[in-house]
Amino acid sequence: AKNRGRGTYAAYRREMRGRLEERALLERDLQFALGRGEITVSYQPMFDASSSRVLCYEALMRWTHPIRGSVSPADFIPIAEENLLIDELGGWLLYTSCAEAVKWPAHVKLAVNVSRLQLINNGFFATVVEALSLSGLSPDRLVLELTESAVLEMDDDLQDLVKRLNAIGVSFALDDFGSGYSSLNYIEKMRFSMIKIDPKFAQSSAEGSANSQAVVSAVVSMAKSLDMVVAAEGIEAGEQADAMRELGCTCLQGYHFAKPSAFVSPDRAASPN
Ligand code: C2E
Ligand code: CA
Ligand code: CA
Ligand code: CA
Repeated sequence: AKNRGRGTYAAYRREMRGRLEERALLERDLQFALGRGEITVSYQPMFDASSSRVLCYEALMRWTHPIRGSVSPADFIPIAEENLLIDELGGWLLYTSCAEAVKWPAHVKLAVNVSRLQLINNGFFATVVEALSLSGLSPDRLVLELTESAVLEMDDDLQDLVKRLNAIGVSFALDDFGSGYSSLNYIEKMRFSMIKIDPKFAQSSAEGSANSQAVVSAVVSMAKSLDMVVAAEGIEAGEQADAMRELGCTCLQGYHFAKPSAFVSPDRAASPN
């Protein structure tokens, strides 16, 4: 930066070096994490806003490092993506969570996060098919969650992949909607069955922001006409749940109802934590 003195610059260099070393260590350990049984799956329920029944569980990857303890997927997924480890981890998660979901009541779906790098890998379709057939999970119970950034650039290959997955019954959810990108191009190309509205809208809508409420209403009416379910995620308080329900969101998820957990009770109804 422009105004940094020499001392600050040295400190900056030191900090950068520290971060790079930190990252290199994580990167090294991540290679062995799966084999050492350090990777697990947590499940967070998503509830029907009117009946309060569980509609779906979202599978979230967990890494318990022997020394550092729990490392956030927000930190290790990007590292895995850079090292092609994401295919191995993602494939494992897909199979493991499908095998878990088979045990749930048939109306309860499984949502799995997929990053762009996984999606554009040639083997992805085969990985999904294999996870479904090995586990015996019906394809119409699998929802793949993609962020806007994952589908912002849609080439023919990606469109073809989406079509093929749709054709076998797998559906898609648009994750973190409204968190950054604002192009709506991909919405008509993708045929999402669900939109997950970014947590900041639940917060500001509950605080009475008319702008935020107007945006949510608009998303809800667009989604309805395109036959998509609107989920509000990151709900941390009753007022947020009420606000988003009133604005027309039919699916609710967040710490207010349930945190991600290794243990799943698919028959439970939503109740505040
Ligand atoms: P995401 O898909 O947006 O997942 C929701 C994140 O918000 C999860 O964090 C969840 O624990 C957290 N969360 C849920 N309810 C609340 C709430 O009420 N308040 C707050 N403050 N947070 C809440 P987590 O598990 O740390 O995951 C972070 C991100 O890592 C995920 O964001 C997703 O983008 C990525 N991720 C997790 N598992 C996988 C995976 O298996 N594959 C890929 N590609 N990405 C994954
Ligand atoms: Ca997600
Ligand atoms: Ca999200
Ligand atoms: Ca996110």
